[in-house]
Amino acid sequence: MKTLRRCERFCDCYGIQFRKLSVISEGKPKPSMVENVVHMERVSNLHYLLQLCAKTRSSMGGRACHAQVIRVGWEIDVLTSNMLINMYSKCSLVDSARKKFNEMTVKSLVSWNTMIGALTQNAEDQEEALTLLIQMQREGTPFNEFTISSVLCLATLVEGKQLHAISNKYGSGSNIYVSSSLIDMYAKCGCIKEAYLVFQGVMEVWSIVLWNAMISGFARHSHAPEAMVLFEKMQQKGFFPDDVTYVAVLNACSHMGLHEEGQKYFDLMVRQHKLSPSVLHYSCMVDILGRAGLVHKAYELIERMPFNATSSMWGSLLASCRVYGNIELAEIAAKHLFEMEPNNAGNHILLANIYAANKKWDEVARARKLLRESDLKKERGTSWIEIKNKIHSFTVGERNHPLIDEIYAKLDDLVVELKKLNYEVDTDNDLHDVEESRKQMLLRHHSEKLAITFGLMCLPSGIPIRIIKNLRICGDCHIFMKLMSKFTSREIIVRDTNRFHHFRDGFCSCREFW
Ligand code: ZN
Ligand code: ZN
Repeated sequence: MKTLRRCERFCDCYGIQFRKLSVISEGKPKPSMVENVVHMERVSNLHYLLQLCAKTRSSMGGRACHAQVIRVGWEIDVLTSNMLINMYSKCSLVDSARKKFNEMTVKSLVSWNTMIGALTQNAEDQEEALTLLIQMQREGTPFNEFTISSVLCLATLVEGKQLHAISNKYGSGSNIYVSSSLIDMYAKCGCIKEAYLVFQGVMEVWSIVLWNAMISGFARHSHAPEAMVLFEKMQQKGFFPDDVTYVAVLNACSHMGLHEEGQKYFDLMVRQHKLSPSVLHYSCMVDILGRAGLVHKAYELIERMPFNATSSMWGSLLASCRVYGNIELAEIAAKHLFEMEPNNAGNHILLANIYAANKKWDEVARARKLLRESDLKKERGTSWIEIKNKIHSFTVGERNHPLIDEIYAKLDDLVVELKKLNYEVDTDNDLHDVEESRKQMLLRHHSEKLAITFGLMCLPSGIPIRIIKNLRICGDCHIFMKLMSKFTSREIIVRDTNRFHHFRDGFCSCREFW
Protein backbone atom coordinates (compact mmCIF):
# COMPACT_ATOMS: atom_id res chain seq x y z
CA MET A 1 0.00 0.00 0.00
CA LYS A 2 2.82 2.34 0.92
CA THR A 3 4.36 2.09 -2.50
CA LEU A 4 1.21 3.22 -4.18
CA ARG A 5 1.25 6.73 -5.39
CA ARG A 6 -1.53 8.81 -3.94
CA CYS A 7 -3.33 10.69 -6.60
CA GLU A 8 -6.87 11.64 -7.42
CA ARG A 9 -7.16 8.91 -9.96
CA PHE A 10 -6.06 6.36 -7.43
CA CYS A 11 -8.64 7.66 -5.01
CA ASP A 12 -11.37 7.42 -7.62
CA CYS A 13 -10.37 3.88 -8.44
CA TYR A 14 -10.35 3.02 -4.79
CA GLY A 15 -13.76 4.57 -4.42
CA ILE A 16 -15.15 2.39 -7.17
CA GLN A 17 -13.37 -0.63 -5.70
CA PHE A 18 -14.88 0.14 -2.32
CA ARG A 19 -18.36 0.42 -3.74
CA LYS A 20 -17.92 -3.03 -5.27
CA LEU A 21 -16.61 -4.42 -2.00
CA SER A 22 -19.51 -3.00 -0.09
CA VAL A 23 -21.90 -4.78 -2.41
CA ILE A 24 -20.07 -8.07 -1.91
CA SER A 25 -20.14 -7.81 1.87
CA GLU A 26 -23.91 -7.21 1.82
CA GLY A 27 -23.41 -3.49 1.99
CA LYS A 28 -22.18 -3.30 5.57
CA PRO A 29 -18.79 -1.55 5.77
CA LYS A 30 -16.39 -3.03 8.30
CA PRO A 31 -13.51 -1.15 9.98
CA SER A 32 -10.94 -3.14 8.00
CA MET A 33 -12.56 -1.97 4.80
CA VAL A 34 -12.50 1.60 5.98
CA GLU A 35 -8.81 1.23 6.80
CA ASN A 36 -8.27 0.07 3.25
CA VAL A 37 -9.47 3.40 2.06
CA VAL A 38 -7.21 5.23 4.49
CA HIS A 39 -5.45 6.78 1.54
CA MET A 40 -8.60 8.17 0.16
CA GLU A 41 -8.33 11.84 0.61
CA ARG A 42 -11.21 12.71 -1.59
CA VAL A 43 -14.07 13.99 0.40
CA SER A 44 -16.67 12.44 -1.89
CA ASN A 45 -15.46 8.91 -1.13
CA LEU A 46 -15.50 9.45 2.59
CA HIS A 47 -18.95 11.01 2.40
CA TYR A 48 -20.15 8.05 0.41
CA LEU A 49 -18.77 5.75 3.10
CA LEU A 50 -20.42 7.73 5.88
CA GLN A 51 -23.77 7.61 4.17
CA LEU A 52 -23.38 3.90 3.66
CA CYS A 53 -22.57 3.38 7.34
CA ALA A 54 -25.66 5.42 8.27
CA LYS A 55 -27.84 3.46 5.87
CA THR A 56 -26.58 0.07 7.02
CA ARG A 57 -26.37 1.17 10.65
CA SER A 58 -22.76 0.04 10.80
CA SER A 59 -21.44 1.67 13.97
CA MET A 60 -18.00 0.05 13.70
CA GLY A 61 -17.54 1.27 10.15
CA GLY A 62 -18.92 4.65 11.15
CA ARG A 63 -16.48 5.07 14.01
CA ALA A 64 -13.58 4.11 11.71
CA CYS A 65 -14.80 6.80 9.31
CA HIS A 66 -14.83 9.32 12.14
CA ALA A 67 -11.21 8.44 12.96
CA GLN A 68 -10.37 8.94 9.31
CA VAL A 69 -12.14 12.32 9.30
CA ILE A 70 -9.95 13.42 12.22
CA ARG A 71 -6.82 12.01 10.58
CA VAL A 72 -7.30 14.01 7.42
CA GLY A 73 -8.42 17.09 9.33
CA TRP A 74 -12.00 17.46 8.14
CA GLU A 75 -13.53 17.70 11.58
CA ILE A 76 -14.38 21.34 11.18
CA ASP A 77 -16.15 20.82 7.87
CA VAL A 78 -19.86 21.43 8.54
CA LEU A 79 -21.16 19.04 5.87
CA THR A 80 -18.92 16.21 7.10
CA SER A 81 -19.88 16.90 10.71
CA ASN A 82 -23.59 16.78 9.83
CA MET A 83 -23.04 13.43 8.17
CA LEU A 84 -21.29 12.14 11.27
CA ILE A 85 -24.19 13.22 13.49
CA ASN A 86 -26.60 11.56 11.09
CA MET A 87 -24.53 8.36 11.07
CA TYR A 88 -24.42 8.23 14.88
CA SER A 89 -28.14 8.92 15.05
CA LYS A 90 -28.95 6.10 12.62
CA CYS A 91 -26.70 3.77 14.67
CA SER A 92 -28.64 4.86 17.80
CA LEU A 93 -25.43 6.30 19.31
CA VAL A 94 -27.08 9.48 20.55
CA ASP A 95 -24.28 10.35 22.99
CA SER A 96 -21.70 10.31 20.19
CA ALA A 97 -24.01 12.39 18.00
CA ARG A 98 -24.47 14.89 20.82
CA LYS A 99 -20.68 15.06 21.44
CA LYS A 100 -20.00 15.78 17.78
CA PHE A 101 -22.78 18.37 17.70
CA ASN A 102 -21.43 20.16 20.78
CA GLU A 103 -17.92 20.24 19.29
CA MET A 104 -19.08 22.13 16.24
CA THR A 105 -18.20 25.81 16.35
CA VAL A 106 -20.19 26.61 13.24
CA LYS A 107 -23.58 24.95 12.90
CA SER A 108 -25.94 25.05 9.97
CA LEU A 109 -29.70 24.62 10.07
CA VAL A 110 -29.12 21.04 8.91
CA SER A 111 -26.86 20.44 11.95
CA TRP A 112 -29.63 21.50 14.31
CA ASN A 113 -32.28 19.55 12.47
CA THR A 114 -30.13 16.42 12.35
CA MET A 115 -29.41 16.63 16.07
CA ILE A 116 -33.07 17.25 16.95
CA GLY A 117 -33.97 14.36 14.65
CA ALA A 118 -31.40 12.18 16.46
CA LEU A 119 -33.08 12.94 19.77
CA THR A 120 -36.65 12.38 18.63
CA GLN A 121 -35.99 9.34 16.44
CA ASN A 122 -34.15 7.56 19.21
CA ALA A 123 -37.09 8.20 21.52
CA GLU A 124 -34.91 10.05 23.97
CA ASP A 125 -36.19 12.61 26.35
CA GLN A 126 -38.38 14.99 24.35
CA GLU A 127 -37.36 17.79 26.66
CA GLU A 128 -33.84 17.85 25.27
CA ALA A 129 -35.19 18.28 21.74
CA LEU A 130 -37.38 21.11 22.99
CA THR A 131 -34.45 22.73 24.79
CA LEU A 132 -32.43 22.61 21.59
CA LEU A 133 -35.25 24.28 19.74
CA ILE A 134 -35.35 27.08 22.31
CA GLN A 135 -31.53 27.40 22.20
CA MET A 136 -31.72 27.57 18.44
CA GLN A 137 -34.14 30.45 18.64
CA ARG A 138 -31.94 32.23 21.17
CA GLU A 139 -28.92 31.93 18.91
CA GLY A 140 -30.94 33.40 16.09
CA THR A 141 -31.03 30.32 13.87
CA PRO A 142 -34.47 30.37 12.31
CA PHE A 143 -36.08 26.94 12.39
CA ASN A 144 -37.83 25.47 9.42
CA GLU A 145 -40.66 23.04 8.91
CA PHE A 146 -38.37 20.06 9.45
CA THR A 147 -37.24 21.29 12.84
CA ILE A 148 -40.69 21.91 14.21
CA SER A 149 -42.31 18.90 12.63
CA SER A 150 -39.60 16.54 13.89
CA VAL A 151 -40.09 17.83 17.42
CA LEU A 152 -43.85 17.77 17.03
CA CYS A 153 -44.04 14.29 15.58
CA LEU A 154 -43.51 12.61 18.93
CA ALA A 155 -44.63 15.43 21.16
CA THR A 156 -47.04 14.65 23.93
CA LEU A 157 -49.91 17.04 24.44
CA VAL A 158 -48.09 19.09 27.07
CA GLU A 159 -44.95 19.39 24.94
CA GLY A 160 -47.04 20.13 21.88
CA LYS A 161 -48.71 22.99 23.73
CA GLN A 162 -45.28 24.31 24.73
CA LEU A 163 -44.18 24.18 21.11
CA HIS A 164 -47.34 25.96 20.12
CA ALA A 165 -46.51 28.73 22.59
CA ILE A 166 -42.91 28.92 21.31
CA SER A 167 -44.03 29.17 17.70
CA ASN A 168 -46.51 31.93 18.58
CA LYS A 169 -43.88 33.82 20.53
CA TYR A 170 -41.44 33.76 17.65
CA GLY A 171 -44.09 34.67 15.13
CA SER A 172 -43.90 31.39 13.24
CA GLY A 173 -47.45 30.47 14.16
CA SER A 174 -48.65 31.38 10.71
CA ASN A 175 -45.97 29.37 8.92
CA ILE A 176 -47.89 26.71 6.98
CA TYR A 177 -45.59 23.85 7.97
CA VAL A 178 -45.64 24.79 11.63
CA SER A 179 -49.41 25.22 11.55
CA SER A 180 -50.05 21.96 9.73
CA SER A 181 -47.76 20.13 12.19
CA LEU A 182 -49.69 21.70 15.05
CA ILE A 183 -53.05 20.68 13.56
CA ASP A 184 -51.66 17.19 13.13
CA MET A 185 -50.24 17.09 16.66
CA TYR A 186 -53.50 18.21 18.29
CA ALA A 187 -55.51 15.76 16.20
CA LYS A 188 -53.13 12.91 17.06
CA CYS A 189 -53.33 13.79 20.76
CA GLY A 190 -57.11 13.55 20.55
CA CYS A 191 -57.78 17.32 20.75
CA ILE A 192 -59.76 17.97 17.60
CA LYS A 193 -61.18 21.27 18.91
CA GLU A 194 -57.71 22.69 19.47
CA ALA A 195 -56.67 21.47 16.01
CA TYR A 196 -59.60 23.37 14.51
CA LEU A 197 -58.71 26.54 16.42
CA VAL A 198 -55.22 26.46 14.87
CA PHE A 199 -56.77 25.87 11.46
CA GLN A 200 -59.21 28.76 11.83
CA GLY A 201 -56.31 31.08 12.57
CA VAL A 202 -54.53 30.22 9.33
CA MET A 203 -57.28 29.19 6.93
CA GLU A 204 -56.84 32.37 4.90
CA VAL A 205 -53.25 31.38 4.14
CA TRP A 206 -53.07 30.06 0.61
CA SER A 207 -52.04 26.46 1.17
CA ILE A 208 -53.70 23.13 0.52
CA VAL A 209 -51.40 21.53 3.13
CA LEU A 210 -53.44 23.14 5.92
CA TRP A 211 -56.79 22.02 4.50
CA ASN A 212 -55.46 18.51 4.08
CA ALA A 213 -54.16 18.45 7.65
CA MET A 214 -57.54 19.55 9.01
CA ILE A 215 -59.60 17.17 6.86
CA SER A 216 -57.27 14.31 7.89
CA GLY A 217 -57.73 15.34 11.53
CA PHE A 218 -61.52 15.21 11.21
CA ALA A 219 -61.27 11.85 9.46
CA ARG A 220 -59.08 10.44 12.20
CA HIS A 221 -61.71 11.39 14.76
CA SER A 222 -64.58 9.99 12.69
CA HIS A 223 -66.03 13.46 12.15
CA ALA A 224 -67.13 12.70 8.61
CA PRO A 225 -69.68 15.53 8.16
CA GLU A 226 -67.08 18.13 9.18
CA ALA A 227 -64.53 16.60 6.80
CA MET A 228 -67.05 16.71 3.96
CA VAL A 229 -68.04 20.31 4.65
CA LEU A 230 -64.39 21.31 4.59
CA PHE A 231 -63.91 19.41 1.35
CA GLU A 232 -66.64 21.55 -0.26
CA LYS A 233 -65.40 24.73 1.35
CA MET A 234 -61.87 24.32 0.08
CA GLN A 235 -63.17 24.09 -3.45
CA GLN A 236 -65.27 27.21 -2.97
CA LYS A 237 -62.04 28.93 -1.96
CA GLY A 238 -60.50 27.83 -5.24
CA PHE A 239 -58.42 24.83 -4.21
CA PHE A 240 -58.40 21.59 -6.18
CA PRO A 241 -58.38 18.53 -3.96
CA ASP A 242 -55.22 16.47 -4.41
CA ASP A 243 -54.48 12.81 -3.68
CA VAL A 244 -53.87 13.58 0.02
CA THR A 245 -57.26 15.28 0.31
CA TYR A 246 -58.95 12.26 -1.21
CA VAL A 247 -57.23 9.85 1.17
CA ALA A 248 -58.54 12.02 4.00
CA VAL A 249 -62.19 12.21 2.83
CA LEU A 250 -62.23 8.51 1.96
CA ASN A 251 -60.89 7.76 5.43
CA ALA A 252 -63.64 9.88 6.92
CA CYS A 253 -66.25 7.92 4.95
CA SER A 254 -64.76 4.63 6.01
CA HIS A 255 -64.76 5.51 9.71
CA MET A 256 -68.46 6.33 9.49
CA GLY A 257 -69.47 3.44 7.24
CA LEU A 258 -70.62 5.81 4.47
CA HIS A 259 -70.11 3.58 1.44
CA GLU A 260 -72.23 5.53 -1.05
CA GLU A 261 -70.41 8.76 -0.25
CA GLY A 262 -67.08 6.94 -0.44
CA GLN A 263 -67.89 5.61 -3.90
CA LYS A 264 -68.96 9.13 -4.94
CA TYR A 265 -65.62 10.62 -3.87
CA PHE A 266 -63.67 7.83 -5.53
CA ASP A 267 -65.49 8.51 -8.84
CA LEU A 268 -65.10 12.27 -8.44
CA MET A 269 -61.39 11.84 -7.98
CA VAL A 270 -61.00 9.86 -11.19
CA ARG A 271 -63.54 11.60 -13.41
CA GLN A 272 -63.49 15.22 -12.33
CA HIS A 273 -60.06 15.76 -10.86
CA LYS A 274 -58.28 13.31 -13.17
CA LEU A 275 -56.24 11.79 -10.38
CA SER A 276 -55.22 8.16 -10.64
CA PRO A 277 -56.01 6.33 -7.40
CA SER A 278 -53.02 5.02 -5.49
CA VAL A 279 -52.82 1.92 -3.36
CA LEU A 280 -53.89 4.11 -0.40
CA HIS A 281 -57.13 5.11 -2.10
CA TYR A 282 -57.90 1.50 -2.93
CA SER A 283 -57.11 0.59 0.64
CA CYS A 284 -59.70 3.12 1.86
CA MET A 285 -62.27 1.73 -0.57
CA VAL A 286 -61.70 -1.85 0.62
CA ASP A 287 -62.25 -0.57 4.13
CA ILE A 288 -65.39 1.38 3.19
CA LEU A 289 -67.01 -1.55 1.37
CA GLY A 290 -66.06 -4.05 4.07
CA ARG A 291 -67.42 -1.90 6.86
CA ALA A 292 -70.68 -1.43 5.00
CA GLY A 293 -71.04 -5.21 4.95
CA LEU A 294 -70.24 -5.44 1.24
CA VAL A 295 -67.41 -7.87 1.92
CA HIS A 296 -67.75 -9.59 -1.45
CA LYS A 297 -67.46 -6.25 -3.24
CA ALA A 298 -64.39 -5.43 -1.15
CA TYR A 299 -62.84 -8.74 -2.13
CA GLU A 300 -63.66 -8.14 -5.81
CA LEU A 301 -61.99 -4.74 -5.63
CA ILE A 302 -58.83 -6.31 -4.16
CA GLU A 303 -58.84 -8.83 -6.98
CA ARG A 304 -59.20 -6.36 -9.82
CA MET A 305 -57.18 -3.34 -8.68
CA PRO A 306 -53.92 -2.64 -10.50
CA PHE A 307 -51.77 -3.16 -7.37
CA ASN A 308 -50.81 -6.11 -5.23
CA ALA A 309 -52.96 -6.18 -2.10
CA THR A 310 -51.22 -4.95 1.03
CA SER A 311 -51.44 -6.67 4.38
CA SER A 312 -53.53 -3.79 5.72
CA MET A 313 -56.16 -4.47 3.01
CA TRP A 314 -56.40 -8.15 3.95
CA GLY A 315 -56.42 -7.11 7.61
CA SER A 316 -59.32 -4.75 6.97
CA LEU A 317 -61.22 -7.44 5.06
CA LEU A 318 -60.61 -9.91 7.89
CA ALA A 319 -61.93 -7.41 10.43
CA SER A 320 -65.07 -6.82 8.32
CA CYS A 321 -65.57 -10.57 8.02
CA ARG A 322 -65.49 -10.76 11.82
CA VAL A 323 -68.27 -8.21 12.14
CA TYR A 324 -70.41 -9.72 9.37
CA GLY A 325 -69.60 -13.35 10.17
CA ASN A 326 -68.30 -14.28 6.73
CA ILE A 327 -66.09 -17.29 7.43
CA GLU A 328 -65.36 -18.16 3.81
CA LEU A 329 -63.75 -14.80 3.01
CA ALA A 330 -62.19 -14.58 6.47
CA GLU A 331 -60.22 -17.73 5.69
CA ILE A 332 -59.03 -16.34 2.37
CA ALA A 333 -57.93 -13.05 3.96
CA ALA A 334 -56.28 -14.86 6.87
CA LYS A 335 -54.36 -17.16 4.50
CA HIS A 336 -52.86 -14.13 2.76
CA LEU A 337 -52.07 -12.50 6.09
CA PHE A 338 -50.34 -15.57 7.50
CA GLU A 339 -48.03 -15.51 4.46
CA MET A 340 -47.41 -11.77 4.54
CA GLU A 341 -47.04 -11.36 8.28
CA PRO A 342 -45.73 -14.69 9.57
CA ASN A 343 -44.81 -13.13 12.92
CA ASN A 344 -48.13 -11.52 13.71
CA ALA A 345 -49.99 -13.58 16.29
CA GLY A 346 -52.91 -11.14 16.13
CA ASN A 347 -54.09 -12.55 12.79
CA HIS A 348 -54.34 -16.08 14.21
CA ILE A 349 -56.24 -14.76 17.20
CA LEU A 350 -58.66 -12.80 15.03
CA LEU A 351 -59.41 -15.85 12.87
CA ALA A 352 -59.90 -18.03 15.95
CA ASN A 353 -62.29 -15.42 17.35
CA ILE A 354 -64.29 -15.47 14.11
CA TYR A 355 -64.59 -19.26 14.38
CA ALA A 356 -65.57 -18.96 18.02
CA ALA A 357 -68.24 -16.34 17.32
CA ASN A 358 -69.72 -18.70 14.71
CA LYS A 359 -69.51 -21.69 17.04
CA LYS A 360 -67.04 -23.57 14.83
CA TRP A 361 -65.33 -25.24 17.76
CA ASP A 362 -63.21 -27.69 15.75
CA GLU A 363 -61.72 -24.83 13.78
CA VAL A 364 -61.18 -22.83 16.97
CA ALA A 365 -59.21 -25.72 18.42
CA ARG A 366 -57.19 -26.06 15.21
CA ALA A 367 -56.38 -22.35 15.11
CA ARG A 368 -55.33 -22.35 18.76
CA LYS A 369 -53.15 -25.39 18.24
CA LEU A 370 -51.47 -23.71 15.28
CA LEU A 371 -50.82 -20.63 17.37
CA ARG A 372 -49.42 -22.66 20.27
CA GLU A 373 -47.14 -24.71 18.06
CA SER A 374 -45.73 -21.73 16.22
CA ASP A 375 -43.37 -19.77 18.37
CA LEU A 376 -45.36 -16.60 17.89
CA LYS A 377 -45.24 -14.38 20.87
CA LYS A 378 -47.88 -11.80 21.53
CA GLU A 379 -46.42 -8.38 22.14
CA ARG A 380 -47.06 -7.45 25.75
CA GLY A 381 -49.98 -5.07 25.99
CA THR A 382 -48.97 -1.64 27.25
CA SER A 383 -50.95 1.57 27.70
CA TRP A 384 -49.78 5.07 28.45
CA ILE A 385 -51.56 7.95 30.11
CA GLU A 386 -50.29 11.47 30.67
CA ILE A 387 -51.05 13.01 34.05
CA LYS A 388 -49.66 16.33 35.25
CA ASN A 389 -46.87 16.41 32.64
CA LYS A 390 -45.79 12.87 33.43
CA ILE A 391 -46.34 9.77 31.34
CA HIS A 392 -47.42 6.67 33.27
CA SER A 393 -47.18 3.31 31.58
CA PHE A 394 -49.08 0.16 32.46
CA THR A 395 -48.47 -3.33 31.16
CA VAL A 396 -51.03 -6.11 31.38
CA GLY A 397 -51.07 -7.40 34.97
CA GLU A 398 -48.83 -4.48 36.05
CA ARG A 399 -47.12 -4.81 39.45
CA ASN A 400 -44.54 -2.04 39.48
CA HIS A 401 -46.53 1.18 39.56
CA PRO A 402 -46.23 2.84 43.00
CA LEU A 403 -50.02 3.05 43.38
CA ILE A 404 -50.80 -0.33 41.89
CA ASP A 405 -52.65 -1.73 44.93
CA GLU A 406 -54.99 1.25 45.03
CA ILE A 407 -55.50 0.94 41.28
CA TYR A 408 -56.51 -2.72 41.47
CA ALA A 409 -58.85 -2.00 44.38
CA LYS A 410 -60.50 0.85 42.50
CA LEU A 411 -60.77 -1.28 39.35
CA ASP A 412 -62.56 -4.00 41.32
CA ASP A 413 -65.06 -1.41 42.57
CA LEU A 414 -65.59 -0.13 39.05
CA VAL A 415 -66.25 -3.63 37.70
CA VAL A 416 -68.92 -4.10 40.39
CA GLU A 417 -70.56 -0.83 39.32
CA LEU A 418 -70.39 -1.70 35.63
CA LYS A 419 -71.95 -5.10 36.24
CA LYS A 420 -75.02 -3.19 37.39
CA LEU A 421 -75.06 -1.77 33.83
CA ASN A 422 -75.07 -5.35 32.49
CA TYR A 423 -71.33 -5.57 31.95
CA GLU A 424 -70.26 -9.15 31.43
CA VAL A 425 -66.66 -10.09 31.00
CA ASP A 426 -66.35 -11.17 27.38
CA THR A 427 -63.87 -14.02 27.59
CA ASP A 428 -64.02 -14.75 23.87
CA ASN A 429 -61.35 -12.13 23.49
CA ASP A 430 -58.68 -14.01 25.29
CA LEU A 431 -57.10 -17.16 24.01
CA HIS A 432 -55.16 -18.16 27.08
CA ASP A 433 -55.74 -21.80 27.83
CA VAL A 434 -56.79 -21.26 31.37
CA GLU A 435 -59.94 -21.83 33.35
CA GLU A 436 -62.79 -19.33 33.07
CA SER A 437 -62.26 -17.53 36.39
CA ARG A 438 -58.58 -16.91 35.73
CA LYS A 439 -59.41 -15.85 32.18
CA GLN A 440 -61.73 -13.19 33.60
CA MET A 441 -58.95 -12.06 35.89
CA LEU A 442 -56.48 -11.71 33.00
CA LEU A 443 -58.95 -9.73 30.94
CA ARG A 444 -59.77 -7.49 33.84
CA HIS A 445 -56.12 -6.52 34.13
CA HIS A 446 -55.59 -5.43 30.54
CA SER A 447 -53.33 -2.40 30.47
CA GLU A 448 -55.91 0.11 29.22
CA LYS A 449 -58.24 -0.79 32.09
CA LEU A 450 -55.45 -0.07 34.57
CA ALA A 451 -54.59 3.19 32.79
CA ILE A 452 -58.18 4.43 32.79
CA THR A 453 -58.64 3.53 36.44
CA PHE A 454 -55.55 5.51 37.29
CA GLY A 455 -56.83 8.39 35.16
CA LEU A 456 -60.12 8.39 37.06
CA MET A 457 -58.22 8.48 40.35
CA CYS A 458 -56.03 11.42 39.33
CA LEU A 459 -57.91 13.66 36.94
CA PRO A 460 -60.67 16.01 38.08
CA SER A 461 -64.16 15.08 36.90
CA GLY A 462 -65.23 16.37 33.52
CA ILE A 463 -61.75 16.25 32.04
CA PRO A 464 -61.44 13.81 29.12
CA ILE A 465 -59.13 10.85 29.68
CA ARG A 466 -56.65 10.05 26.89
CA ILE A 467 -54.91 6.71 26.60
CA ILE A 468 -52.46 5.35 24.07
CA LYS A 469 -52.19 1.60 23.59
CA ASN A 470 -49.56 -0.45 21.72
CA LEU A 471 -51.94 -3.16 20.49
CA ARG A 472 -55.43 -3.21 19.07
CA ILE A 473 -58.04 -2.77 21.81
CA CYS A 474 -59.84 -6.04 22.63
CA GLY A 475 -63.61 -6.50 22.52
CA ASP A 476 -63.91 -6.67 26.28
CA CYS A 477 -61.97 -3.47 26.89
CA HIS A 478 -64.05 -1.80 24.18
CA ILE A 479 -67.30 -2.65 26.00
CA PHE A 480 -65.69 -1.67 29.29
CA MET A 481 -64.72 1.77 27.96
CA LYS A 482 -68.15 2.39 26.47
CA LEU A 483 -69.87 1.64 29.76
CA MET A 484 -67.25 3.59 31.67
CA SER A 485 -67.87 6.70 29.56
CA LYS A 486 -71.55 6.43 30.46
CA PHE A 487 -71.05 5.61 34.11
CA THR A 488 -68.57 8.44 34.76
CA SER A 489 -70.09 10.93 32.22
CA ARG A 490 -66.62 11.41 30.81
CA GLU A 491 -65.12 11.50 27.38
CA ILE A 492 -62.58 8.70 26.99
CA ILE A 493 -60.19 8.66 24.05
CA VAL A 494 -58.17 5.55 23.32
CA ARG A 495 -55.67 5.52 20.49
CA ASP A 496 -54.75 1.95 19.61
CA THR A 497 -52.53 0.74 16.77
CA ASN A 498 -55.42 1.02 14.36
CA ARG A 499 -57.43 4.09 15.19
CA PHE A 500 -58.91 6.53 17.67
CA HIS A 501 -61.81 5.42 19.80
CA HIS A 502 -63.84 8.31 21.13
CA PHE A 503 -66.09 6.98 23.89
CA ARG A 504 -68.97 9.18 24.93
CA ASP A 505 -72.31 8.39 26.63
CA GLY A 506 -71.85 4.68 26.17
CA PHE A 507 -71.02 4.85 22.46
CA CYS A 508 -67.78 4.74 20.51
CA SER A 509 -67.00 6.81 17.43
CA CYS A 510 -65.63 3.70 15.66
CA ARG A 511 -69.13 2.20 15.58
CA GLU A 512 -67.75 -1.19 16.49
CA PHE A 513 -65.27 -1.34 13.62
CA TRP A 514 -61.69 -1.65 14.61
ZN1 ZN B 1 -58.54 -5.74 26.59
ZN1 ZN C 1 -64.23 2.01 19.28
